[in-house]
Amino acid sequence: MNIKNNINQIKQLLIPGCELIVVSKTQPVEKIKEAYEAGHRAFGENKVQELMQKVHLLPTDIQWHLIGHLQSNKVKFIAPFIHLIHSIDSIKLLQEVNRQAQKVNRIIPCLLQVHIATEETKFGFSPKEVKQFMTNPETGKLSNISIQGLMGMATFTDQEEQISKEFRKLKSLFDEIKTCTLPNADIKTLSMGMSGDYLLAMEEGSTMVRVGSAIFGERNYAL
Ligand SMILES: *Cc1c(COP(=O)(O)O)cnc(C)c1O
Repeated sequence: MNIKNNINQIKQLLIPGCELIVVSKTQPVEKIKEAYEAGHRAFGENKVQELMQKVHLLPTDIQWHLIGHLQSNKVKFIAPFIHLIHSIDSIKLLQEVNRQAQKVNRIIPCLLQVHIATEETKFGFSPKEVKQFMTNPETGKLSNISIQGLMGMATFTDQEEQISKEFRKLKSLFDEIKTCTLPNADIKTLSMGMSGDYLLAMEEGSTMVRVGSAIFGERNYAL
């Protein structure tokens, strides 16, 4: 795999206004450095422990995105530097992010993860929960977070119409919450699309795609 070529090829396909997050989970630091040297700065990891190991070995101008399930007791480790948390899946977690952000005197950008796929999962809000949460004045009191949009994953299937339908649903929820007037809401990011479906996601209005294996090749979880 030529990492630099792969990144450049994907960047040429991005629609204007859509940002690429290079998903570097399970990839060794040397591979991330290759992408960095190609000029890329935004990387996504899904585990706090793995992220913390990598952060210290890589340049400080990398923008780190957390894209996987986050446990409340791990928020304190990433609060000082995390660029965007895509995977807020409970109010309790958001409250903890707010608390830890306050401690380090930051306002941490967050996305709410929405469950749009047909597969069962423990993680993510329902669209109804998102609407309730974004119209609740209590939400607006979390002054050390900035709610910037939504993240979702489509069903793992080769049925493109199914995938597009799920992305369309997330985009319509995104448009709905854009009108939200909470003081800590600044709705501008719709994080949807991975290696297999980022073109479909962009057709449906994605502003941020998270791509791993199309850049680095298949992941080796044994590493
Ligand atoms: C692993 C992962 C990705 C990237 O997946 P690829 O199919 O390798 O592009 C994107 N988003 C999330 C939340 C992930 O966990």
